[in-house]
Amino acid sequence: MDLGIRGRKAIVCAASKGLGKGCAMALAGEGVELVIAARTAGPLEATAQELRDRYGAKVTAVAADVTTPEGRAAVLAACPQPDILVNNAGGPPPGDFRTWTRDDWIKALDANMLTPIEFIKATVDGMIERRFGRIVNITSSSVKAPIDILGLSNGARSGLTGFVAGVARKTVRHNVTINGLLPGSFDTDRLAATSFSAAKAQGLSIEEIRAKRANDIPAGRFGTIEEFGVACAFLCGAQAGYITGQNLLLDGGAYPGTY
Ligand code: NAD
Repeated sequence: MDLGIRGRKAIVCAASKGLGKGCAMALAGEGVELVIAARTAGPLEATAQELRDRYGAKVTAVAADVTTPEGRAAVLAACPQPDILVNNAGGPPPGDFRTWTRDDWIKALDANMLTPIEFIKATVDGMIERRFGRIVNITSSSVKAPIDILGLSNGARSGLTGFVAGVARKTVRHNVTINGLLPGSFDTDRLAATSFSAAKAQGLSIEEIRAKRANDIPAGRFGTIEEFGVACAFLCGAQAGYITGQNLLLDGGAYPGTY
């Protein structure tokens, strides 16, 4: 299926590895011009080169912390008029809410709620004027069902999701959609880090924790960044203009509810 977005311009945040990279790969495969951002220049440039070599894509790498105003300004300077925006950043740490300070909450809200809102604010009116826009927010399955140790994520991402639910209904009339992609367990560095914490807490090896986690998923395995990327690219496709304000779970069946 040709998604009809060849030559469109996209910003993909937090894309040197993991889910953001999966999205960048799928968009590059569709002929989209990319500005990819991550904090560390070396791995980011390596990913940019990989995308150029594999897909012949036009890719600009911007080393920036997207949770800061300066970082966002650098990304937007490289792509002031994106047609596609994929919001993503690192997730907050696990822990017990009794130990979290106001500062811990502000950091989580900054990264996982206010940063995507700032990017939406900076780009959505241009998309509306040009009558094409696709915004995808990478959130978490925690939006649908809270994850015990990830209270900061449960809270911050739900705030973003609630905000977007309203805006997404205003923009769709202009062919600008905003949707959430909710990862369950994908085999990335983030999953390795949470497996490490769980292994320590439960006195098991990382391999044991990984096997247990994979076995608890109806699919019997973790998701891949490629699977995540194609779902993102579909939501960014020209044909997806009637899908807005939705929160799509990609979790191998882990969420146990009927709806
Ligand atoms: P990852 O650690 O594999 O990759 C994160 C990427 O984000 C890297 O490229 C990193 O450089 C970049 N990054 C992090 N903070 C940044 C910042 N402030 N500015 C710019 N770039 C930044 O992580 P991932 O597994 O791909 O996770 C991506 C998001 O999805 C995270 O918010 C994570 O919490 C969430 N998530 C992941 C899973 C999963 O199973 N992997 C599940 C639920 C939610």
